Amino acid sequence: MRRTIKTDAIILGAIDYGESDRIVTFYSRELGKINGIAKGARRSKRRFVGNLDTPSHTRLLIFKDDRRELARIDDGTLVEGFSGIKGDIDRFGEACYMIELLRELTPEALPIEGLFETVLAFLQFLQLGDRPELTLRFFEIKLLTLLGYMPHLDGCVGCDSDAGNSERNAQKIFFSAVRGGLLCNPCAQVSSDASPLAVGTAGFLSMASRLTIDKLPRLQPSNSFAREGERILSDFIRHRIGRELKTKKFMEKMRLAAI
Ligand SMILES: [Zn+2]
Repeated sequence: MRRTIKTDAIILGAIDYGESDRIVTFYSRELGKINGIAKGARRSKRRFVGNLDTPSHTRLLIFKDDRRELARIDDGTLVEGFSGIKGDIDRFGEACYMIELLRELTPEALPIEGLFETVLAFLQFLQLGDRPELTLRFFEIKLLTLLGYMPHLDGCVGCDSDAGNSERNAQKIFFSAVRGGLLCNPCAQVSSDASPLAVGTAGFLSMASRLTIDKLPRLQPSNSFAREGERILSDFIRHRIGRELKTKKFMEKMRLAAI
């Protein structure tokens, strides 16, 4: 099929191509994650200035021929440039992490219902909110949930017992990135990567995966649950993608430099 469409997109990255073109990766509401070529983008101040930078919300006019991998980007109008993020090195690093995670986890050319709106909402949270580390945790959880990758946190993934489900049940629980969820004590003994996990952290992650975005800011976990949640999600994402994200390493360097 060959068609021209106008679509709202989040710019995920761009590289120079040839003498004056740019190849842009974007996540669009209608088409999912695709690559497009913006011909003459480095010369045309009128059509493309500032609207193909990461992260931006841009309304694109594209021509898509399903037989070709690259769409043609004919025009772009900036809807939201997130200047509050781009003007702050820490917020910019965190937004780049969100974008890299989105880029790595989403399949090509497959729109996921609600994902576009979710990413925009989290970029706004990052721009306006005062707990960026929590915004990143909630973003990871929502992204994994929408893509169907969220680890299993309600009961043991090995034997289906209710590990962690009962606060009164003082049994130890564990997490395994390889197995993709919680493990009870006996199942953890035969798992290669199980690490202990507080019942409260499992509860916080599970609750966050069920809440709608507007209710998430009300969830204020203790620092220890937030730290442990970060470790669990980070182990899981690293296992899922098969390596550490470049932007994650960058954020850690920035964090160490600030101490
Ligand atoms: Zn078990």
